[in-house]
Formats: sequence, C-alpha cells, structure tokens
Amino acid sequence: MRTFEKICDLRAFLKSQKRSDLRIGLVPTLGALHWGHAALIKAARRQNETVVVSIFVNPTQFDDPEDFKTYPRDFQSDLAFCERHGVTAVFHPSEAEMYPTPSKTRISVPELTRHLCGAKRPGHFEGVAILVSKLFHIVQPDCAYFGEKDAQQLAIIRRITRDLRFPITIVSVPTVRETDGLAMSSRNALLNPEQRRAAAALNRHLQNAQQLLKSGENGLEKIKTQLIQRIQSESAAEIDYVEIVDAETLQPATAVDRALLIAAAVYFGGVRLIDNFSCNFAKKDES
Ligand code: AMP
Repeated sequence: MRTFEKICDLRAFLKSQKRSDLRIGLVPTLGALHWGHAALIKAARRQNETVVVSIFVNPTQFDDPEDFKTYPRDFQSDLAFCERHGVTAVFHPSEAEMYPTPSKTRISVPELTRHLCGAKRPGHFEGVAILVSKLFHIVQPDCAYFGEKDAQQLAIIRRITRDLRFPITIVSVPTVRETDGLAMSSRNALLNPEQRRAAAALNRHLQNAQQLLKSGENGLEKIKTQLIQRIQSESAAEIDYVEIVDAETLQPATAVDRALLIAAAVYFGGVRLIDNFSCNFAKKDES
C-alpha cells in the first residue's frame, strides 16, 4: 500500500495506474476508520482495481471549533486498517497542501442545504463540497463511494457531480450498524457508557417511525411528534432536529407518495449523532 501527502505525487502515481487502464475508486473520509468505512472500501474494491482512501480532517466543514479539536484522529491505526482492507493508496494531505491559501471559491447547493444538517451547521456542506470537488479533481476517479448514513451529503454530492459534469459515478453504500443498531460513527468513541446506551435507542425510534409509515399511517406530523417524544424520553438525549423529508429534494414531506427520509440529529452529551431511515412510496413508473 502506498501513502501520499503531496497532490503531485498522488497524481503521478494515479497517472501510471490510468496508463495501465486500471479503474480508480475513491473513498473520502475524515479518518478514525470503522466498519462503515470498510463497507465503502469493500464496494470500491469490487468495482475498481485501484482504491484510493483519503484521510483528512477537513477544517472547512467543521462549524464548531471544539468539534474539530476533539474529532478522533489515529492515523497509524487508520493506515493499518487500510492495509488490512486491501487499499491501494492512502492520501493524507496536510491542511497547507489542501488549502495553501484560504479558499475564496464557494460551491453550494442552497436548495439541498435548507433543511436537516444544512440548517443547523452553517457552512458545513460548503466545506464538504469544496473538499470533495478538490478530491475529484486530484484523483479523477471512475467511481466515488459515500455512505447513506450521511444522506444529505450524498444528495448534495450527487447534485454537484451532475451540475459540474464530473465524469464520476457516485455509489451509495447502506449504513453499517453496531449489533444494537447504532449507526457506526467515528464520534461514537466519544460517548460515555450512559450516552452510548441512550444513543442506541435513536435507531429504534427512527425505525419505529418507518414502521408506522409502512403500515399505512399517513399523518406525517403525528409520526414526527411521536418520534420527538420518544427520543426526548431518553436520558442524555437532546434533539437538534427531527424531520421527514422528500428523499430527493430534501424538502419537508407533505404526502406519503414518494421516497421519504426520516432523519434526526441528536446530541448525547456534547456528541452530535445523525441517523436516518427511508421508505419508498413512489409508484413503480415514477421511480
Ligand atoms: P466520515 O469519515 O465520517 O466523513 O465518513 C466517510 C464516509 O463514510 C462518508 O461517505 C460516510 O457517509 C461513510 N460512513 C460513515 N459511517 C458509516 C456507516 N456507519 N455506514 C456506512 N457508511 C458510513
């Protein structure tokens, strides 16, 4: 496995891979790798001969300096993780390499950032968008892999890829969960045992709302109110948002006639976790 810190070195390596007609898959991450990331790497390995994992705690996507400071970082164990999972190359640039001067270029998709995390974390998705666009330019992968856990991020990246005509296939990977259903996240390591217990209930409550929708309940406000009450009943849980939105436009859902996303962000102590479940009610010919 190769490790690169400089853009020019990675580019030179990838040029040789492309000359040999090897397909390139890109898995962008913030590091602190877990089985969720492993699922992305596995999907990338299935479809590409060369798999590049980027590990970069991107400062521009953190709206809270404390969150940036405490975000888990363990590069050595990430490297060993990548090696074990058959990654071809790890790209681990410094901040100065990615942002030699503060970026004055902005990439945003206002329509898709108005709700959910976008409404709560100003500038977050602009930071994600500029970083992912830079990575796309640097790596020029055939395919790039993103998790469904970050559903809003996925929708925004799909849109940017389409709007900027990046010749890249965006592949989504289902959320990988702990045995009790908690969505795997690098932030889970920051939970104390009580918060960890409470956090496990989040997916159960979201799933319960999904079941209600599937069983024919179409009172969206009723489902949302019940979901809020259930989450609030957990000790140590403080809701950031709970929303039911159109899975494609990410606007609040008004009818149960399309693909919907039930999404929540909840603080457990100071740790903010997100999760979502989807239901597709689109008629066959519309989907
Ligand atoms: P992060 O390092 O948290 O920025 O995540 C990097 C990529 O891994 C993103 O595309 C995430 O959506 C994805 N990811 C994170 N956690 C999971 C998970 N539990 N299951 C599937 N994908 C995940």
